[in-house]
Amino acid sequence: MVIQFIDLKAQQVRIRPQVDAAIKRVLDHGAYIMGPEVYELEKQLAEFCGVKHAISCANGTDALGLGLMAKNVGPGDAIFVPSFTFAATAEVVAWMGATPVFIDSLEDTYNIDPISLELGIQTAKKLGLRPAGIIPVDLFGQPVDYDAIQTIADEYNLWVMADGAQSFGASYKGRKVGNIGDMATTSFFPAKPLGCYGDGGAIFTNDDELASIMKSLRVHGQGTDKYDNVRIGMNGRLDTIQAAILIEKLKIFPEELITRQKTADAYNNGLKDVVQIPYVMDGVTSAWAQYTVCLPNGINREKLMIDLKEVGIPTMIYYVKPLHLQTAYKHYPTVGALSVCESLSNKVLSLPMSGYVNKQCVILKTLEALNFNA
Ligand SMILES: *Cc1c(COP(=O)(O)O)cnc(C)c1O
Repeated sequence: MVIQFIDLKAQQVRIRPQVDAAIKRVLDHGAYIMGPEVYELEKQLAEFCGVKHAISCANGTDALGLGLMAKNVGPGDAIFVPSFTFAATAEVVAWMGATPVFIDSLEDTYNIDPISLELGIQTAKKLGLRPAGIIPVDLFGQPVDYDAIQTIADEYNLWVMADGAQSFGASYKGRKVGNIGDMATTSFFPAKPLGCYGDGGAIFTNDDELASIMKSLRVHGQGTDKYDNVRIGMNGRLDTIQAAILIEKLKIFPEELITRQKTADAYNNGLKDVVQIPYVMDGVTSAWAQYTVCLPNGINREKLMIDLKEVGIPTMIYYVKPLHLQTAYKHYPTVGALSVCESLSNKVLSLPMSGYVNKQCVILKTLEALNFNA
């Protein structure tokens, strides 16, 4: 029996007829670009998050880029990002000619460390940079401690753009991801909690002015009509077919979030005595993009992965190398040594996660493999 790391097939079997019908409707009406499904999806996403504006776009990276463009980020600006994240978070900062300043993470939640963030702001000032904004990342699906981050943002007059690429569907103290910070982004890459069948993304805000600027930026900085260009923008639209697919997937998404939580609960119970299980803060729910444990010292991670693969359990390492050690990013400033990021990258391991996992099987085989290694 082979378990899928993210079981997109089981989900597709469940909704294939609805998806086929949705795609057929788009082919029939022919509005492939900015068709009615795009606007319908945006309405549903905004309702789901309880936020005023949901602006769909081509992918989660463009969502971050649109936010930075709307904030007029440029050379001399310092933008604070965790180093333990996917490259896109820092990449968009470099696009704008601004400077990503890499911040350390917390050992237990894997998210950005507020104390390291404050030190990072001082570091940026010493380097003659202008602290402009923070991009906290809800790593593996759990929202950052936004109250702590917002306090620092207020003190230094910084904006907050939440990178919720992995956390769509999660909540922080009663607020859904999307309705947090000045702006929040997400990705609909197939493997994310809410994924389409291609690339897709969205950016959320309660700010009317930011929303209208980002809608303009998404279509080449358009003004009153298509051929009136009032700012430098991009082609950042979401395809109508992807919107149609997402509308169908959003219908079963609340149920899938519950199943993901049940899988995480079962993993927690089954594995808590042998590995460091993921810690979720009080008042916070995770979307469980990944279920990521920390292996104890002395476990050979590579051998464990091979042993698990042999018994049909795929595992992944997110992330093997923090960004501040990557060729493209190592010349950017950091707050000291980022020792937590570096230690996490050496001991994390992600187990199969989706709304459709045979959790008992994974737990059993993981326990067996760990004993074998001990
Ligand atoms: C996936 C991801 C992105 C980028 O999303 P794409 O849709 O692939 O462009 C950005 N940030 C984080 C943290 C991600 O996991």
